[in-house]
Amino acid sequence: MTNFSPRGATRKRAGGIKRFPKRHLLLVTGVAAAVMTVVGLLPSPQVEAKRSETELLIDEFQPESPKETLKELAFEEKAAPLETQAQRLARDEAERLATEEATLGSRKRITIESGDNLSTLFDDMGLSARVVYEVAKTPQLGKNLTDIRPGQTFEYRVNSEGILTQLHYVQNKLESILYEREGDGYVGKKITLEPEVRIAFAEASIKNSLFLASQNAGLSEKMTMELAGIFGWDIDFALDIRSGDSFNVMYEEKYLDNEKLSDGNIIAATFVNQSEAFTAIRYTDSHGNSNYYSPDGKSMKKAFLRTPVNFTRISSSFNPNRLHPIFKTKRPHNGTDYAAPTGTPIKAAGDGKIQFIGWQNGFGNVVFIQHPHNIVTVYAHQSRVNKRFKTGSQVKQGQTIGYVGQTGWATGPHLHYEFRVNGVHRNPVTVKLPDASPIPKSERARFMAFANKTMAQLEKHGTTMLAKNEKESKQRP
Ligand SMILES: [Zn+2]
Repeated sequence: MTNFSPRGATRKRAGGIKRFPKRHLLLVTGVAAAVMTVVGLLPSPQVEAKRSETELLIDEFQPESPKETLKELAFEEKAAPLETQAQRLARDEAERLATEEATLGSRKRITIESGDNLSTLFDDMGLSARVVYEVAKTPQLGKNLTDIRPGQTFEYRVNSEGILTQLHYVQNKLESILYEREGDGYVGKKITLEPEVRIAFAEASIKNSLFLASQNAGLSEKMTMELAGIFGWDIDFALDIRSGDSFNVMYEEKYLDNEKLSDGNIIAATFVNQSEAFTAIRYTDSHGNSNYYSPDGKSMKKAFLRTPVNFTRISSSFNPNRLHPIFKTKRPHNGTDYAAPTGTPIKAAGDGKIQFIGWQNGFGNVVFIQHPHNIVTVYAHQSRVNKRFKTGSQVKQGQTIGYVGQTGWATGPHLHYEFRVNGVHRNPVTVKLPDASPIPKSERARFMAFANKTMAQLEKHGTTMLAKNEKESKQRP
């Protein structure tokens, strides 16, 4: 065992691991990471090097023939138990720490509380005002010490001569600054940790509510909102959800040293609503813009918002044969009235160009937007329009163009909204909305490759779960 080179041992271990499912591999990496967390909070060049070396070896190892690997494994079993990779790392770390402690001093930690300042903190650390001055004048990064906030920590070492050798200012889980003694002063180094992104799956069948089902599937409220947002163009989550609807979602989780920091993006999801399945895939194009598309490359979004305002109720529907509430004569109601408190923001329903912005008799403060395909949308009775827009300005879907009011001929605060196609008034509530731009031709091949790979992952997981559920239900009497 003593003449076993560490590199050889790693290879052998890695070879053994390679035969197990990927989950085990992750677990081993996890153990190594956990050991490193326990033994040292400061990432040292040595640890970093070891971590990447281990990963590289696992990656590069390909057994030449399965037989050979088996033989090696058999030999390994007969031999005395090997020191595991984790044990070896822990031993090396312990040695390194002992050396560090002897030269730099032992590591201590202090948590910043409200009311603390550098002087009080350094005083608590047993250091003089002169040291505060020396660290604070560290080139570039010294000034960051004036931004200290409660909850952040200082990890520090003072050597046997009473000199502050290291100050590690931990700003949050991912960012910190390390100040190290050099000559008569200090040098600072920013340390940024990249969270590990893991892929997670969740699926659920809805019995009572989407939120309950999501919660039971382990999804956070934020993820549920995002899921609803992605499919919100096709499914009305307030009215359309039925018992038996289901979803299957693949998403990112961000981890640091096996501790979950936050959720990432939804990568793909399928939502079955009243037996109709919708699938969305998040695709980042070569310009770095991310959007959700169906597997055949159509945008999940529509070119128009169904309703351009958060309304309390529809106070008057589109009706070509209506009796006008003020004039008591037969006058068509060419739009939909959305009642909402004065001042509620009004959003542009789609991308376009401002055709008119200002006052018109009857409409009061009004905005007309010209969109592609000869569509015009109208937003009337505003308390005020957004001054940053002028006639001819470009406007993007969702931008606030003004605020709800009751200017012009209106009996209460509401938005009168019209949707005109080729000059003909259409019912804004029921008109079929055009899709937003699909995947452009230039991105199509790249998108299809990504979509196929992603769909396979999503479906594979879905069927695994389905098979498992079926098995479970069969076992029940
Ligand atoms: Zn109206």
